[in-house]
Amino acid sequence: MYDVLIIGLGAAGYTAAIYAARYKLSVFIVGAEEGGMGMTAVEVGNWPGDIDVKGPDLMERFRQHALSFGDAVSHRLSHVKSVERVPDGTFVLHLDGGGTVQGRSVIFAMGSYKRHLGVPGEEEFSGKGVTYCATCDAFFYRGKDVAVIGGGDSAVEGAAITAQVANKVYLIHRRGEFRAEPYWVDEVRRKKNVEFVLERTVVEIVGEQAVRAVRLDKEWNGAQEIPVAGVFIEVGSVPATDLAKDMGCVLDERAFLRVDAGMRTSLEGVFGAGDVSNGSNHFAQFTTAAGEGAIAANSAFAYLQSRSVEGSMSGG
Ligand SMILES: Cc1cc2nc3c(=O)[nH]c(=O)nc-3n(C[C@H](O)[C@H](O)[C@H](O)COP(=O)(O)OP(=O)(O)OC[C@H]3O[C@@H](n4cnc5c(N)ncnc54)[C@H](O)[C@@H]3O)c2cc1C
Repeated sequence: MYDVLIIGLGAAGYTAAIYAARYKLSVFIVGAEEGGMGMTAVEVGNWPGDIDVKGPDLMERFRQHALSFGDAVSHRLSHVKSVERVPDGTFVLHLDGGGTVQGRSVIFAMGSYKRHLGVPGEEEFSGKGVTYCATCDAFFYRGKDVAVIGGGDSAVEGAAITAQVANKVYLIHRRGEFRAEPYWVDEVRRKKNVEFVLERTVVEIVGEQAVRAVRLDKEWNGAQEIPVAGVFIEVGSVPATDLAKDMGCVLDERAFLRVDAGMRTSLEGVFGAGDVSNGSNHFAQFTTAAGEGAIAANSAFAYLQSRSVEGSMSGG
């Protein structure tokens, strides 16, 4: 029986593990993908103390730090199918492959997954030219023309990175302005091979064996189709709340895991941190994920202490 079960191998989960281990709690940390979203951040310029660091390098340092506590932190790469709350107030994780792990508290740090556009051709050409991570897949499109769809950080950063290798990048955004960090907007505006296709929506992804073009809702430069070999869909993300929702945790109006200032969810002994939660004003960053992970571990520690005092007072 572990003190804390942490689901998520990203910035929030690893920070929670580091804090929990320093509180002398026994930790089981599990995730489907090592490093989480941080692995796709090519250039991180706002992690304090590092003027410039690559996302995968930063996440490897998180991992090594968490695993430096030896036996106090058990680490597993696995998908979690469900989390069960036992009547005595403890929890059981059900892992893919049939294993179970028991714990006294849970920290949900499952991050988010990429939102889909929901247009014809998207599913058909997924993996055949349609992808959801420009910064991960740009290098497969060296010398080709590609479209990046979206107007937030991922889209604008993705277009800037892709422009370094692609022949031409069409940055397609349904509005006239970007909501991305001004740093990345400036970066992308400096690229000579980026075309801005603004106030246009992609209504179809067209192709035969693979992507051939995107079709727009209205003409741009005299045509409704733009020929491209790749389409990077970067239209935001959806919090990965399924496990928490199935357990009965309350979500906010935007379907993020609702937490209070102590990262406590609506269920006793269950905490949330990082991109999955509505904490930090929905500002999804490495710093906020790490901060929330630290607070969640602190609250789990306080919760476990209060349970052990209750237990000793009742003779349990
Ligand atoms: C392209 C890109 C660039 C970015 N650049 C920056 C930047 O420069 N600066 C910045 O501050 N932020 C940046 N971000 C945002 C930052 O990466 C995220 O805010 C941060 O990584 C979120 O961490 P997290 O721990 O909350 O979630 P994640 O890193 O997404 O981790 C979630 C973890 O949960 C696991 N998981 C989910 N469901 C399950 C399940 N059922 N069972 C088991 N495991 C599960 C996943 O496998 C993963 O390990 C960027 C994001 C992107 C996409």
